[in-house]
Amino acid sequence: MTANKTGYFTHPDCRRHEMGAGHPECPERLDAIEDRLLVTGVGDALERREAPLASLADIELAHDRLHLAALRGLELEINEQIEAGGPAYAHIDADTSLNAHTWQAAQRAAGAAIAAVDAVMAGELENAFCAVRPPGHHACRSQAMGFCFVNNVAVAARYALERHGLQRVAVIDFDVHHGNGTEDILANDPRVLMVGIFQQGLYPFSGEQPKGPNMANVPVPAYTRGMEVRELIEMEWIPRLEAFKPQMVFISAGFDAHREDDLGQLGLNEQDYAWITTRVRDIARRHAQGRIVSCLEGGYHLGALGRSVEAHLRALADL
Ligand SMILES: [Zn+2]
Repeated sequence: MTANKTGYFTHPDCRRHEMGAGHPECPERLDAIEDRLLVTGVGDALERREAPLASLADIELAHDRLHLAALRGLELEINEQIEAGGPAYAHIDADTSLNAHTWQAAQRAAGAAIAAVDAVMAGELENAFCAVRPPGHHACRSQAMGFCFVNNVAVAARYALERHGLQRVAVIDFDVHHGNGTEDILANDPRVLMVGIFQQGLYPFSGEQPKGPNMANVPVPAYTRGMEVRELIEMEWIPRLEAFKPQMVFISAGFDAHREDDLGQLGLNEQDYAWITTRVRDIARRHAQGRIVSCLEGGYHLGALGRSVEAHLRALADL
């Protein structure tokens, strides 16, 4: 008998990573979520847990060792830089940089997803949401990019397969940007089915040609509205998921396809996120004993982010 509870995994370290003033992927995103859960009382219905640090061995299930050594090396470099009175950041690309706390935050973010897998597999929780940053779905096997360093969902999916002996897991990605990192890591792994919907022609400009038969990518043009997205999900995702019968479902939960979010031009709203989550929860209940581990990805309009995460959690927790 599985407990009918929804977990909420987070850690204060996830606020300490930041990429400079005015960067949209900012610590205040987590505050916006916390505030909304407090004001609405939704937080009271969740089982709150502190995220542990992921071990290197577990992160290496999805990343190569050199990539991780480079990230850890940059942390030392930044600390030396700061001591010498230099800049507090190391830049990976135009939008992505590390500060002295990034590696620790990334270990917490992946650790949240891993701990959520353990708790859901143990039957302590039916499902769980990880309110973490940095996000992960652009992080490739050997490359940080697009605000992402460690691919939390890919690490946790591999962890469920390797450490818990599952044979089939599904990854759902509804962030406005294509989850190229998750695809890079999990393409052609027959134990994984990934379904994604994202805006065409937007960063990282990939996904139109799936990299493996286990990738169901649905690119949509700018200004596509929620009802059309729901129809596409019904046609393109649901039959694949039903046929695959996943034993656990992971969600790359980005909320930047919201119509108030300026980083994309899609027209989703809170009701659409509730609908998608409910549809995924139904599939998880039918095939996977309800097991879902959802991880925060994008979502940059703070008000819309708070309301959308609330809608997502209400659907996960049946509130
Ligand atoms: Zn995004």
